Amino acid sequence: MSSNGSLVRVVNLKKHFPVAGGFLGRQVRLVKAVDGIDFDIQQHETLGLVGESGCGKSTAGRAILQLYAPTSGQVFLRGRELTQLNADELRSLRPKMQMIFQDPYASLNPRHPVGKIIGEPLVIHRVMKRGSRELKDRVAELLDLVGMDPAYVRRFPHEFSGGQRQRIMIARALSLNPDFIVCDEPISALDVSIQAQVVNLMQDLQERLGVAYLFIAHDLSMVKHISHRIAVMYLGKLMELTGRNELFDDPLHPYTQSLNSAVPVPNPKLERRRRRFILKGEPPSPANPPSGCVFHPRCPLAVEECIKLVPEFRAVRPGHYVACHLADEASGSKISVDTVLASVVD
Ligand code: SF4
Repeated sequence: MSSNGSLVRVVNLKKHFPVAGGFLGRQVRLVKAVDGIDFDIQQHETLGLVGESGCGKSTAGRAILQLYAPTSGQVFLRGRELTQLNADELRSLRPKMQMIFQDPYASLNPRHPVGKIIGEPLVIHRVMKRGSRELKDRVAELLDLVGMDPAYVRRFPHEFSGGQRQRIMIARALSLNPDFIVCDEPISALDVSIQAQVVNLMQDLQERLGVAYLFIAHDLSMVKHISHRIAVMYLGKLMELTGRNELFDDPLHPYTQSLNSAVPVPNPKLERRRRRFILKGEPPSPANPPSGCVFHPRCPLAVEECIKLVPEFRAVRPGHYVACHLADEASGSKISVDTVLASVVD
């Protein structure tokens, strides 16, 4: 299996965690947090990764960056298979792949001034010396790049708003000129008014620097504007992956359709007329996933086959992948939003 010319390629990636259970904790079960996902990301591209809490999307991000050792599968960055590298080789590639976390306050050291926080990766990777003029200039340049006053270098994280703290995290992530950043719910903890500013900043930085993002979020509205393509994840598996417009205009998987029906429409008339497709129940535990299609206990269209057979994640149109037995290659899909809505809503 090769990297396929993509910047990042993920092949059948799995991350299972053993957990103790049963009487006196003697029984060991596997939590299949990520259970065989495949996708690629091109240079300058943003792939949105969406799913409910606990679906494994953050674990997937960490396993791609090798912050968690994958259970199996392959991850390529510019053709190099990360899972095969030793610790030194991986350390030398770290500058090229960075991560931004959901809670900027928890991920910033409260005792360090902003200048030290942003410059730290350059010192750790021995790109620049601590206290050097070169480092100070680079930190000032990075603050300016994320729209902050370079005079803020001596201030501490508690002196900034949530949006400014996320800008500091972005500046830190960019310090080593990465090719690829995993953004783990970077706007979920921010006020709605600030979310748009951070998304605009990230898009602007992508245009200027050419960096690629895996942008993780728990609802489609958060990835709508920034993503070129979107992957939908449920219980450790990918349900659907396609271009942003196609995913919103013609979602083929019932789970994507339910997420899509919850995204507000800016036109109030249309919004009033829209019907919501609300899923029943909670996602099952990844320690005890359902047989066949993992979505079948909540799927309004489930048939006998869905309980027994795992649907293949396959292309039903060029670039449009779906894991559903009812997605049809010839017509694109036997299922439609209306079919699903009619089956669950009056
Ligand atoms: Fe629903 Fe069956 Fe498709 Fe799964 S395979 S999404 S249960 S119709």
